[in-house]
Amino acid sequence: MTTDLISHTCAGLPADHPRYLMGVGAPPDLLDAIALGVDLFDCVLPTRVARTGTIFTRRGRVNIRNAAYRDDTGPPDESCPCAVCARYTRSYLRHLFNADEMLGPRLATYHNLSFLAQLMEDARAAIANNRFDGWRREILAAYATPW
Ligand SMILES: [Zn+2]
Repeated sequence: MTTDLISHTCAGLPADHPRYLMGVGAPPDLLDAIALGVDLFDCVLPTRVARTGTIFTRRGRVNIRNAAYRDDTGPPDESCPCAVCARYTRSYLRHLFNADEMLGPRLATYHNLSFLAQLMEDARAAIANNRFDGWRREILAAYATPW
């Protein structure tokens, strides 16, 4: 991510107006942009990658098609409160993708959007409680993949 460009641009924008960044949707990049002063985002990444079986988790992204999830009875993300994570397992999502069932991409898309909505809600709460930097460090330390 071009943090220098975002930082430079935000420094030149009025402080009392929202700052919008298009095309950034990976969880670590969103947190970096928030730290630089961005308020709003718009990106196809969470839905685009979901359609091919990539789901966001607090530990990093997961390709649910991998054989490692064949017998995994855990939810897509243990910490996600969404309806998909409450009702379905990684092995079932893997089955749906490998069987070319349209429900697989739909459930992965629902989860990824819910995941990001929850992440942004948590970021807003951390900002409101004046603990965003520490919260962000904890989230990024647990995030094992590049995006
Ligand atoms: Zn979920």
